[in-house]
Amino acid sequence: MNHLVASYLEPDNLGAWGTYLEQVDRVTPYLGPLSRWVETLKRPKRTLIVDVPIELDNGTIAHYEGYRVHHNLSRGPGKGGVRYHPNVTLSEVMALSAWMSIKTAVVNVPFGGAKGGIRVDPKSLSLGELERMTRRFTSEINMMIGPQKDIPAPDVNTNEQIMAWMMDTYSVNQGHTATGVVTGKPISLGGSLGRRDATGRGVFVVAKEAYADMGFDITQATVAIQGLGNVGGEAARLFDRAGAKIVAIQDHSATLYNPSGFNVTELLKHVALTHEIKGFNGESISAESFWSTPCDVLIPAALESQISKVNANAIQAKLIVEGANGPTTPEADDILQERGIIVVPDVIANAGGVTVSYFEWVQDFSSFFWTEEEINQRLDKIMIDAFRGIVSVAKTHNVSLRTATFIVGCERILKARQLRGLYP
Ligand code: NAD
Repeated sequence: MNHLVASYLEPDNLGAWGTYLEQVDRVTPYLGPLSRWVETLKRPKRTLIVDVPIELDNGTIAHYEGYRVHHNLSRGPGKGGVRYHPNVTLSEVMALSAWMSIKTAVVNVPFGGAKGGIRVDPKSLSLGELERMTRRFTSEINMMIGPQKDIPAPDVNTNEQIMAWMMDTYSVNQGHTATGVVTGKPISLGGSLGRRDATGRGVFVVAKEAYADMGFDITQATVAIQGLGNVGGEAARLFDRAGAKIVAIQDHSATLYNPSGFNVTELLKHVALTHEIKGFNGESISAESFWSTPCDVLIPAALESQISKVNANAIQAKLIVEGANGPTTPEADDILQERGIIVVPDVIANAGGVTVSYFEWVQDFSSFFWTEEEINQRLDKIMIDAFRGIVSVAKTHNVSLRTATFIVGCERILKARQLRGLYP
């Protein structure tokens, strides 16, 4: 267990699935007659647990536990990433799949929610072992996935290469090349321009919009970011490019502080080379003090349950924009709301990735590819329109942005559920 994930160890932590259920309970009073269908959101449609055996380089056989969950398919095929992490559990994957259902509905792309993962520390595997594990996992979940059924994508510790292996394995099993089975692929295999940066870009676009609503200018902001991976790294680059100052960073290896602002170009080069922030210039501070560092905007972009009742009172930021999925527990949400700290929830803030994944899927079907400029323009418009819609719902009902986002997402899913009806 990583020493930084302290909140996972709190005895009364609800865990990711518990957090999600509480979020649904909080929104139910606003759903009117649709609340008749709300139970459908509280149970996944189907879950699959698979054994993933592989031969290690030293000749021994290792077994890993893998999962794929379809949470809700009322609005279209399942969509959601695949996570490789030693703490992955079925209930975590269930929660991540449920947040995908809400997220795809919030940005109104025609997908349901799915997610997958393997309980493994991928850093302990060689490249060959990683490939064998990925291919075996893909074969084991073959009955769940497909361009019209469920389309995986990258998540924590998975990337374009892993998507290429998944696409190839599925295609070999089908007997024809099926590029549309995954998104987040390399460009040369039907990937989309702009996909790699899309989630971080969406985080930045929404943060800028929310900060402006609060009467502030993002170019003047100081920013703290947890997680400098795909999401946090690109968000850092865009904040820096806009003129904001990144003053605190944390990843699995270290926590660093620099009140005059990190050189983000050099930082990202360091991370690309070493896969961690450890060793970069900056004052090394304790993991806990990351949360109390003075800053205007805080971007959690690592794992779930990072902001809990333990650290919510210490947070100095005016605005939190959730790059990660599920980084804030419901108790922390209450504390932050009481303290007047605005939280832009994950299910809108990090929806840029699934939005461009939708573009990728559409481009694969039509075999016609768009320019990066077109993609970024369409992405920005979808993110800003969705965010404006949520702000208006929040004002109408006088609720937090999280509750407003869940109202929008749950209504869309449950309306689809109601129209389709029950069979038989
Ligand atoms: P990634 O693997 O590229 O990066 C993860 C980052 O988190 C790394 O910097 C890692 O060091 C850091 N981290 C891991 N454990 C940590 C710990 N215990 N304490 C502090 N930092 C830690 O993953 P990513 O794709 O950037 O995903 C980050 C988050 O964003 C996840 O919650 C993921 O579900 C969510 N997300 C990702 C996407 C996407 O398109 N990649 C889309 C939506 C949401």
